[in-house]
Amino acid sequence: MTAKPPPIPFNRELDFEYGRSDRVSPLIRRVIAPNSGPFSFYGTGTYILGSGTVAVVDPGPLIDSHLEAIKAAVAGETVSHILITHTHIDHSPLAAPLKAWCGAPTYGYGPHGSGKIEQGVEVEEGGDRDFAPDVELRDGDVVEGDGWSVEALHTPGHTSNHLCFQLPEEAALLSGDHVMGWSTTIVSPPDGDMKDYMASLYRLAERDDAIYWPTHGAPIETPQDYVRALIAHREAREAGILDCLSDGMIRIDEMVPRLYAGYVPPEMYPAAARSVLAHLVWLVEKGVVSADGPLSIDAAFRPA
Ligand SMILES: [Zn+2]
Repeated sequence: MTAKPPPIPFNRELDFEYGRSDRVSPLIRRVIAPNSGPFSFYGTGTYILGSGTVAVVDPGPLIDSHLEAIKAAVAGETVSHILITHTHIDHSPLAAPLKAWCGAPTYGYGPHGSGKIEQGVEVEEGGDRDFAPDVELRDGDVVEGDGWSVEALHTPGHTSNHLCFQLPEEAALLSGDHVMGWSTTIVSPPDGDMKDYMASLYRLAERDDAIYWPTHGAPIETPQDYVRALIAHREAREAGILDCLSDGMIRIDEMVPRLYAGYVPPEMYPAAARSVLAHLVWLVEKGVVSADGPLSIDAAFRPA
């Protein structure tokens, strides 16, 4: 019997209109880009911090109408900072034209894959390879604005360069794609890393942030309980993978239907397979599982 992950209390409600700037808290406004999809929900939520002199967080994908919507939202104000949670193509590419328009410097951990390159791992998958921040932030760095400040939290896992931004004035955490309320996040090797992702979840569970503002979807208002549900879900998924292996399944494409039937539609199985690979990479690192040859989606895995 395969262990089934416990349900996660997802919230797929969202009151919005594309291009409209909504004040969602005293210090935060949000404009949503029209890039809905299976991984981006209704689209990228670009956050604007402060009033008068503001930061723009995750300008989003290269969509002209979204750039115009951000410009309209900050009309008559000064953009002093452009903050980037990570370098996926639905987050960072619009930073370049926004910077060309407003002149503000960009802040982020580093180029795509930079957290892995530091560990000697070459990242070959997609991502926004054109973005490099003007200012590289490290864990604990504080960025001060006019009436707002954020502390960078390095939260690798979804990507190796993922940052969350904590806004102390509201005990709020801009959680990027690390923790989203509408869905679990994608953890796809080699840049995505399950061990790092779990460590980043445990770290958030220990904190006392009052609310999370993810890039996609509605805020999370019971964040520690939600993070604990994500941890339990991934732990149960790992147990399910170990069950598959002890039942003699050796290939990821055999395991995915057994693990995900009823959870995700078959067209999402390729993404689910990346997640199973991420778990298996970590199990190999832990010495629990062995693989024939390089760790890839086609490798054969066995209990060690
Ligand atoms: Zn992402």
